[in-house]
Amino acid sequence: MKIRTKSVHTGVQIDKTFNSVITPIYPSSTFYFDRIGKNKGYDYTRTGNPTRAALEKNIAALEGGVDCSVTATGMAAVTAVMFYLKPGDHVVTGHDIYGGTYRLFDYVLRDFGIDFSFVDMRDLNNVKKAIRPNTKMIWIETPSNPLLNIVDIKGVVAIAKKKKILTVCDNTFLSPYFQRPLELGVDIVIHSTTKYLNGHSDVVGGAIVYGNKKLQEKGRYLVNALGVAGSPFDAWLVLRGVKTLAPRMEVHQANAIAIAKFLEKHPNVKKVYYPGLKKHPGQGIIRKQMSGFGAMVTFELNTKKVSLGRFFKKLKYFALAESLGGVESLVESPWYMSHSSMGEKALKASGITKETVRVSVGIEDAEDLIADLAQALKG
Ligand SMILES: *Cc1c(COP(=O)(O)O)cnc(C)c1O
Repeated sequence: MKIRTKSVHTGVQIDKTFNSVITPIYPSSTFYFDRIGKNKGYDYTRTGNPTRAALEKNIAALEGGVDCSVTATGMAAVTAVMFYLKPGDHVVTGHDIYGGTYRLFDYVLRDFGIDFSFVDMRDLNNVKKAIRPNTKMIWIETPSNPLLNIVDIKGVVAIAKKKKILTVCDNTFLSPYFQRPLELGVDIVIHSTTKYLNGHSDVVGGAIVYGNKKLQEKGRYLVNALGVAGSPFDAWLVLRGVKTLAPRMEVHQANAIAIAKFLEKHPNVKKVYYPGLKKHPGQGIIRKQMSGFGAMVTFELNTKKVSLGRFFKKLKYFALAESLGGVESLVESPWYMSHSSMGEKALKASGITKETVRVSVGIEDAEDLIADLAQALKG
């Protein structure tokens, strides 16, 4: 099965009672036993649920994993994966990872005895240099958020494998439609399904996709023990969204390319970050590990010409909001919004400025979107 077929069919037709084409929602918290030791494969929804299992099968198939755990949020997935570690362990990760992940690592997990090095992972030497005897995990996010830096996944995996270090990749930004890290040797993929996998900005959810049986066993154990599994209703919504992943990603991307090219030429835009632009310094790796560029476009606004406030206010189709990956276009300031929890020092180190604007390009008409940006950029 090709990925488009997988997204529509995998895990879906599970109802043998009435042959419904769509996966039913099983909101039941518990499932009765026919007798001690005999049930139909489910006993309690925190542990397992048929609707959630349908989505888990689907996402596992899309990423090419052995299995998947669907969680309540993307951060629940991140949290669960961090429980593979023990106090005293050390993690190497990027200096420009998702703000919420950064917060969990730097402000919460340090208190539990886990240490982190945040480095510029574009240069594999930085990754090598950061590794210590107690390094147990390398956390990859590529393209990074919000500056769309590219990390060489295979390069990191090669470094990690030599030292038996676990590799995890947050694949939220591209979705399995454009990038499949497990095929590049990564051990675990995580998602915020809140973004492209669901795609309709009407649910928060997450997923952990396991590259092998051993990780699956431990992961499923952790998700149940920690109590971070997603609800059947949310799983049903994401399953509904994921079926249109392929056509959505194509339109998202076509619009993003058009917008990035428009912004690149605009006099009030200082710099554009987008993997689909020839100027993007990661082109060599982009061609090796990605089959598309995604639809996040970040740029530096010349705020001497147009203030951030005025630009945001004048936009008609781009709502000023955090999050991304929905059918509607969104715009935001990483400095003041999505990444503010990083603190000024870390923001500056990662290259984010007060002029940085992040756009989640939706699936509206590209001409309308560009016209809207053009009138707002006039100032
Ligand atoms: C949104 C996001 C998360 C966190 O997901 P939630 O569903 O908001 O908890 C993690 N990583 C990336 C890259 C994200 O964009």
